[in-house]
Amino acid sequence: RSKKVGKGVFTIYNRTMHSELAERMNIDKHLRNALDQDEFLLQYQAQMNVQTGRIIGFEALLRWHNPELGRVSPMLFIPIAEDSRTIIAIGKWAMITACTFMRRIHERGYPDCRISVNISVIQMVQEDFVTMVLDILEDTGLAPQYLELEITESIFMESYEPIIHKLEILRSLGVRIALDDFGTGYSSLSYLKQLPISTLKIDKGFIDNLPEEDKNRSLTEAMIAIGHKMGLEVVAEGVESYNQLAYLKDHSCDLVQGYFLSKPVDEDEVEALLLRY
Ligand code: C2E
Ligand code: MG
Ligand code: MG
Ligand code: MG
Repeated sequence: RSKKVGKGVFTIYNRTMHSELAERMNIDKHLRNALDQDEFLLQYQAQMNVQTGRIIGFEALLRWHNPELGRVSPMLFIPIAEDSRTIIAIGKWAMITACTFMRRIHERGYPDCRISVNISVIQMVQEDFVTMVLDILEDTGLAPQYLELEITESIFMESYEPIIHKLEILRSLGVRIALDDFGTGYSSLSYLKQLPISTLKIDKGFIDNLPEEDKNRSLTEAMIAIGHKMGLEVVAEGVESYNQLAYLKDHSCDLVQGYFLSKPVDEDEVEALLLRY
């Protein structure tokens, strides 16, 4: 096979690999100072109850702007922050910021609004993860039922029993747990059995070409049915069109999130959205 590919291709391949590594190392270097330099902020993306048309909460999404690198996508920097474990401090900052913000929204007259925060598996394996969450709730005065932790099936790549135990403690205290990107990666139905989750988030990949694509239609309907049979709330991610929304409403999906409703917005735009819906 290598004979067929030829020498030139390998040279290009190596050069690409080299520059990718150099880029990662550069990002890694800047990430280490980013919290101290105040380079992060959160944006918030609305989640709407499809049946009532009301916004019930927001997902907090991390944004990083570095003076030298510009804006860097979380898809790129989060895996690097996980490797260097800086995600532990960044993730804590994100949870404090998100909970503080939601407490303020409650005080402004929206006492039922929820906040979802993405959690890295690196954070969850920390000894003090449960204490950290509970301390943040206490310090910000946010009641546990208004916080949702978004986790992914990647926790099953770690030794997951201690993680499940921690999630069970948090769930028993009222914190919500969402399984993000459901249907992708290493997804297995046994995770639904083992995890104390309250919410299933169907990955955008299944929602993208609804309602035209037969296979995605079948899979989405089946995922909604499984979620409901398990007593879970079901969210569709990445809803971009009216047709998708109408289809999901017809098929009893509970919540939708996506550009059709709103892109992730800065905190000063959140109230306007709440007033509108
Ligand atoms: P995710 O948690 O699955 O978040 C959904 C992603 O889809 C977000 O990308 C969001 O901006 C994007 N999105 C939402 N609606 C639409 C839509 O209608 N169309 C399209 N094309 N995209 C849509 P984003 O903000 O770039 O985040 C990417 C991923 O980075 C997130 O995926 C999550 O896994 C991770 N992430 C973001 N913030 C955090 C954080 O604070 N902590 C951790 N550990 N991970 C985070
Ligand atoms: Mg998420
Ligand atoms: Mg997702
Ligand atoms: Mg995702």
